Amino acid sequence: MTISKAASPLVYQCMFCAESIAPTDMDPCALNIIARIDRPREVQKEQMFYCHIDCLKSHSSIHPGNFYITDPNFSTVGEFASE
Ligand SMILES: [Zn+2]
Repeated sequence: MTISKAASPLVYQCMFCAESIAPTDMDPCALNIIARIDRPREVQKEQMFYCHIDCLKSHSSIHPGNFYITDPNFSTVGEFASE
């Protein structure tokens, strides 16, 4: 007998509001933290967190206008690679 189990969709939880993150034009977003950024790559540490772009913007001291990534004309990774 074969037991089939439907794959459950991955749920991302926002590090700021703790709510799940529904897919939108910008969400879910990930923050990749690099510890020891001032040291050689081999001794750095990395950890990824997830968030809503709006939660990141509202919890940051960075002016919302500096989040260029939210500009519809900001290139995707694939567009950057082909430039
Ligand atoms: Zn959030």
